[in-house]
Amino acid sequence: MSLLTITHLKVLFPTQDGVVKAVNTVDLKIANAERLGLIGETGCGKTVLGLSIIRLLQPSTKIEGEIVYKGKELLRLSEEEMRKIRGKEIAMILQNPTTSLNPVLKVGDQIAEAIQLHQGLDKRAAKEKAIEMLESVKIPSPEKRANEYPHQFSGGMKERVMIAMGLACNPSLIIADEPTKGLDVTIKVQIVKLMKEVSRRKSMLFITHDLGVAAEICDNIAVMYAGELVEYAKTEDIFKNPFHPYTRGFLNSLPSRGLKQIRGISPSLIDLPTGCRFHPRCDQASAKCKIDHPELVEIENGHFARCLLYT
Ligand code: SF4
Repeated sequence: MSLLTITHLKVLFPTQDGVVKAVNTVDLKIANAERLGLIGETGCGKTVLGLSIIRLLQPSTKIEGEIVYKGKELLRLSEEEMRKIRGKEIAMILQNPTTSLNPVLKVGDQIAEAIQLHQGLDKRAAKEKAIEMLESVKIPSPEKRANEYPHQFSGGMKERVMIAMGLACNPSLIIADEPTKGLDVTIKVQIVKLMKEVSRRKSMLFITHDLGVAAEICDNIAVMYAGELVEYAKTEDIFKNPFHPYTRGFLNSLPSRGLKQIRGISPSLIDLPTGCRFHPRCDQASAKCKIDHPELVEIENGHFARCLLYT
């Protein structure tokens, strides 16, 4: 059964240069205990999709469609109702812990604050729980470290603090936005292991540009390009039998497959290409691809792709 159902989601940002179409008619479901990877290049709309679920977008943003969580339409809730869901029911582990953590508050107090807000514990009990959370993400000497400030933590340790904060209120759904970005290989391996452990029996939307990391953690993968989903399948099917030329190109950029980059750059989300959005970069593009915009269709059992080669 689906925990979260996104239907026809569109997210638009008006700017001086034009309207940024960050998310364009996305349909997606996350089941109980499913770990879904949302992958794509930087700037394809993945983070915006994650932020729109917990409604943390700037007020001028235009959102259309539906986001239903446990039967509640999140886009119709008041800000007060949404505050009760944010952190407690759905937690987001934000990108870049250095800017996300408050530099003038001790890390234990930052975690305890969220616990007090959502679980009604007194200050002392919340601080004890915060220390437990630091221990659960394997921070050594958690009692001592709870009284330290973010600048006293390394990049990997800060990421662990962000994960502890996200998990503090035992949410049903975790949205993890690039938790391994910028980490060196050894620390990345440790964070991936930790994410696998902490997301056991939970639902997770794992946002990343790193296919290798998504393969380690996720049950299913949705590939996003220029604001829309272009492929969706079980993780093993994405790796063994990718349908979309973009997914194939993305896979070929992995070190294990020769580090071959896709030619060209992602299009501007203000001025999207006509027809298939990937056509200026696609080696298999035909004249039709410049005109017709393909739909996301099921090609094999549970394996969807948006490409005219299959229609
Ligand atoms: Fe390439 Fe055409 Fe398929 Fe787009 S529709 S991915 S341009 S073959």
